[in-house]
Amino acid sequence: MNATIKARIEAIFDQVIKRNPGEPEFHQAVWEVIDTLGPVLHKHPEYAEQKIIERICEPERQIIFRVPWQDDRGEVQINRGFRVGFNSALGPYKGGLRFHPSVSLGTIKFLGFEQTFKNALSGMPIGGAKGGSDFDPKNKSDGDVMRFCQSFMTELYRHIGEFTDVPAGDIGVGAREIGYLFGQYKRITNRYESGVITGKSPAWGGALVRREATGYGTVYFAREMLNVRGVSLEGKTAVVSGSGNVAIYAIEKLQEYGVKVVACSDSSGFIHDPDGLDLDTIKQIKEVERGRIGAYRVTHKKATYTANGNIWDVPCDIAFPCATQNELNEASARTLVANGCIAVSEGANMPTTPEGVKVFLDAGICYGPGKAANAGGVATSALEMQQNASRDAWSFEYTDKKLQNIMMDIHRDCYETAKEYGLKNNYVAGANIVGFRRVAAAMLAFGII
Ligand code: GLU
Repeated sequence: MNATIKARIEAIFDQVIKRNPGEPEFHQAVWEVIDTLGPVLHKHPEYAEQKIIERICEPERQIIFRVPWQDDRGEVQINRGFRVGFNSALGPYKGGLRFHPSVSLGTIKFLGFEQTFKNALSGMPIGGAKGGSDFDPKNKSDGDVMRFCQSFMTELYRHIGEFTDVPAGDIGVGAREIGYLFGQYKRITNRYESGVITGKSPAWGGALVRREATGYGTVYFAREMLNVRGVSLEGKTAVVSGSGNVAIYAIEKLQEYGVKVVACSDSSGFIHDPDGLDLDTIKQIKEVERGRIGAYRVTHKKATYTANGNIWDVPCDIAFPCATQNELNEASARTLVANGCIAVSEGANMPTTPEGVKVFLDAGICYGPGKAANAGGVATSALEMQQNASRDAWSFEYTDKKLQNIMMDIHRDCYETAKEYGLKNNYVAGANIVGFRRVAAAMLAFGII
């Protein structure tokens, strides 16, 4: 990379650190992107002149609000709510809500930043955003969750809208929470504005396949990466971390493709079933009982449960990190490669640490970063918005076909762009460059706003 451009990118990063103290995940997400943009600035000096990168690193708006609510015992609880509209160059702000005790402004900014590039890469007309709260839905009653969601929406509603900002789910926000949030929005605004939120139940305006889309999409992306190398998924062994919505539907699609999935996890530990996981049991534990993954052993005695263990110690051909950020570090990446892993496809957002990513790239295995590999979820949200706008409802097969085509296009765009820049097989650079170029071109057209 040209020394002036390198120095410029480093200076931008220094500013990001200075202006956003105490937000290491946001810094990490920014560096991971801008570190790959040197060749683009070289080709497009106008992006440097117009300070496009500097502008992209500054969220367009950040909303922080109090969320007071009363729990089942009558005790008053106070949480903090966030919504960061990161970039609206390509469409209304779009991105999920995360309810988890670890949520802070820095978490939401890292996710909103990632979302901006992911959404651009998806090829759909959506900007980037993220929101959430430090509320912990774990072990809460339906009543507690409902009152929290109602209070959260009582502030959020004034900032969102089908042409302004369209939230959806993320960790801790599934069909139940989306129902309560949409119900309160509808009640406060006196509008049945279906397109204001996605991930709705297909019974009231949601899209078929949205529930499955992130997990299925991650598998489609892995299939495409392997395809380029003339390898098929069938007969392979996989490990999928997590056991939430993304992991469950990644496992479902993998099993459909004849892959043996031997391990999955939750925040308390992982299960390993050498015969292949029984997905019905996992769905029962996680989707119906909202229990812990260790309960799998009650009916599957041959499986092992390791509390607080490292799931990446389980040998596999393909790894699907589908839990959370920075869940796969350098040592785990080395273990995977040493155990013969040939591909990693990220269902979660930024699950691999920068050192881990380097291990995968140096080893030359297929590595699909979350921005590309998990874009199927938000892309299908955009399909939900399309259906809402036209008051239509598409079949499962039709929507799934569209999702497959979107994932194939994303894969091709990343692959071809990396090649164009002399970085063959580097999907990290490919994804960042494609996403950035799309956002940058629109920002340039709009002038200095
Ligand atoms: N939370 C998901 C993501 O990280 C989906 C967001 C959406 O559907 O808007 O992409």
